[in-house]
Amino acid sequence: MTTASNNILDLFIIGGGIHGTGIAADAAGRGLTTALCEQNDLASATSSCSGRIFGGDILFLENLEINQVSRGLSERHIIRHRAPHLCQPIKIHILNNPKVHSKWSLSFGTAMYHFMAGKDEKEILQQWHQLEDPTKDYPFENQCFFYENLIDDTRLVVENALAAQQHGANILPHQRVISAQRIDQCWKIETQSSFDNTQSNGAPNNQTFYSKTLVNAAGPWAQTVHCDLTHSDSRCEFKNQQLHYIYLEKFYEGNQGYWIQLGHHNVYSIIPVDHNRVMVGPILTDIIDDSEGEKIWQDEFLKPLLQRLNQQFQVNLSPKDVVRHQQQNQLLLNENYPYSTDLTRDHLLDFNCPDGKTPLVSIFGGRLSTYRVVAEQILAMLSPYLPKHSADWTESSPLPGGNFSNDEFELFKLEINRDYHWLDQDIRDRYVNQYGGRTQELLSGCHSLDHLGDSFGAGLYQREVDFLMEQEWAVESGDILWRRTELGYCGGEMDLEGLDRYMRAG
Ligand SMILES: Cc1cc2nc3c(=O)[nH]c(=O)nc-3n(C[C@H](O)[C@H](O)[C@H](O)COP(=O)(O)OP(=O)(O)OC[C@H]3O[C@@H](n4cnc5c(N)ncnc54)[C@H](O)[C@@H]3O)c2cc1C
Repeated sequence: MTTASNNILDLFIIGGGIHGTGIAADAAGRGLTTALCEQNDLASATSSCSGRIFGGDILFLENLEINQVSRGLSERHIIRHRAPHLCQPIKIHILNNPKVHSKWSLSFGTAMYHFMAGKDEKEILQQWHQLEDPTKDYPFENQCFFYENLIDDTRLVVENALAAQQHGANILPHQRVISAQRIDQCWKIETQSSFDNTQSNGAPNNQTFYSKTLVNAAGPWAQTVHCDLTHSDSRCEFKNQQLHYIYLEKFYEGNQGYWIQLGHHNVYSIIPVDHNRVMVGPILTDIIDDSEGEKIWQDEFLKPLLQRLNQQFQVNLSPKDVVRHQQQNQLLLNENYPYSTDLTRDHLLDFNCPDGKTPLVSIFGGRLSTYRVVAEQILAMLSPYLPKHSADWTESSPLPGGNFSNDEFELFKLEINRDYHWLDQDIRDRYVNQYGGRTQELLSGCHSLDHLGDSFGAGLYQREVDFLMEQEWAVESGDILWRRTELGYCGGEMDLEGLDRYMRAG
């Protein structure tokens, strides 16, 4: 894109998580010139470390925050039509703690959630009953259930980045923003590549951009970017905490998930991520990264959690059963902030424009399920500072790969099964769930396994690696194994060295 001061962007975005990419897609689709810089891989922070629930967030009902719930439910309906391939129905059993809720209030809350979800709930229910693995009902005491929508959080980010790019945005992973200052009625933004020259394929290490407006979507770094990089005053105070999820081999039967209620607004969620694994969390800790960190994590957090699961499910899990441990720093609002919301649950937008000409909007907190409305809110805030552009458009526009209605998606799966019958069923299923309508592009011209090139094991072929490198900004094996796909769990069956070598050769 540009380094010349006479080529000024309309919008520059810091951060390639769900907020940054969602805003980039929205802005570019309105005809605004847009660039986004992400310091690592896309979705490398919170947006690949969420609870994966895209819905109304039933926990808001604890405080009767009806608006938040209904906004999330309406977005749930929208996303299930924009990207049906990324969505999965799930039945979640809440294992109540009678000290937190009475059985009556829990039943009332879940009934209200069913009622508010309306038609969308019926669709989810229908899909749930079509799943192969039926629910296994365990006779736990004090349980209630509700239906929800699971989303592939990381792929949602990638698809928004693709949508932005299709509309002309410049998406630049591995470019860290190192300074942003107001100069001559616009923002001057400097970035630095995270790679050395040999890795960056000749792209310059440092770049300078000029933009009319700036959006800070830096997630856990949003406060640092807001105060230290742009030297803006902050309205709120934050503290840093660490959030953890652990992944375990599935230790119960059925496709259902569980929430173990610990306190108000506080649950351990147990969510199946595939047929064999569940993710459990979040576990909130202070930042533990010193030499004692691992011991503190194991003794004070992991072991008590496993003990709780062992007790509840009558199993015998130990730390060696953890197949993955994901951790992520997170900004939490200090309790003395006037609005006592927990920022992991809802968002806060800080608009800053002391000169009346060069606005900055910083996003703090938020949910996956409201990213689209947050993008619309931000574009509305920035609108007076931007050239004439088109109106809100994302609600009814499919994401790349989502170009069919729910019913058509079922037909599309049948078509893929017919056209690529020579491909293993698990691989076909993975492709349609990850790439949706883009599966045809991935497999175009392929008529047998030979056309997919060398195999790296676990169903990963050269063809898919090329597709992800050419089209989805993948540069390292981790980008493919843990974000574009979740094949990282099959690491033992894979030729990881071969994959690294192949990707380095580029
Ligand atoms: C434990 C947990 C569970 C959650 N579960 C759910 C859930 O089930 N459902 C739901 O709807 N929501 C959930 N959320 C909320 C949701 O995941 C987050 O609100 C959302 O992912 C935040 O996205 P983001 O784009 O703001 O931040 P991030 O995804 O963190 O992205 C910010 C990006 O900015 C980049 N960056 C930072 N500084 C710079 C710089 N100087 N230059 C360039 N790039 C930079 C970072 O590398 C990062 O990739 C959960 C949140 C947490 C913490």
